[in-house]
Amino acid sequence: MATRRRTLLKVIVLGDSGVGKTSLMNQYVHKKFSLQYKATIGADFVTKEIQIGDKLVTLQIWDTAGQERFQSLGAAFYRGADCCALVYDVNVLKSFDSLENWHEEFLKQASPSDPKTFPFIVLGNKVDIDGGSSRVVSEKKAADWCASNGNIPYFETSAKQDYNVDEAFLTIAKTALANEHDQDLYFQGIQDASTENEAKGSGCAC
Ligand code: GDP
Ligand code: MG
Repeated sequence: MATRRRTLLKVIVLGDSGVGKTSLMNQYVHKKFSLQYKATIGADFVTKEIQIGDKLVTLQIWDTAGQERFQSLGAAFYRGADCCALVYDVNVLKSFDSLENWHEEFLKQASPSDPKTFPFIVLGNKVDIDGGSSRVVSEKKAADWCASNGNIPYFETSAKQDYNVDEAFLTIAKTALANEHDQDLYFQGIQDASTENEAKGSGCAC
């Protein structure tokens, strides 16, 4: 009988201050939304468990604590990321223009082994505002940017209305899963070996 594998995936959420990073995470993990603006404080990350195929996946989603204003997120923030979600506000052009910087900054700081295939995802948030009449970045413009930066998946979201939030994070989890770390693969390899020769009890993960 196959052992149920547990996989931990680190996801980091980047983008200009105020675009809704914390709100998207809160909506996804706690199903809550607040219009009150609070600079993010507290935990470095939140976790959520989801089932993908035969795998139980723990998503560890890292939020910034407001330091994104100064683009000075520490090395620990980037280290070991399996996926990077880039968020902008469809009503604020500057936040879209910043995607380029966040993309570059991530590649510089996290220096993934293969920058061309590292999984990113872009979220255009706050599509609910004024029923879309105040948006300044079209879906096509965003999709074009994503296409020219390595076919990054693109979602339009509203943390307020819980629109596309689950869908976006599910795609994040799936792309992160496809890019698991060597270390995790090695660890799983050991698990497989011990399961195969039945030398250990099924509950042992060592
Ligand atoms: P962060 O700085 O990127 O973490 O942004 P926050 O999550 O703190 O959100 C900034 C402000 O935008 C807050 O007042 C939120 O309530 C608001 N906000 C976030 N997402 C949405 C959304 O999808 N729609 C609307 N209308 N407001 C949002
Ligand atoms: Mg925040």
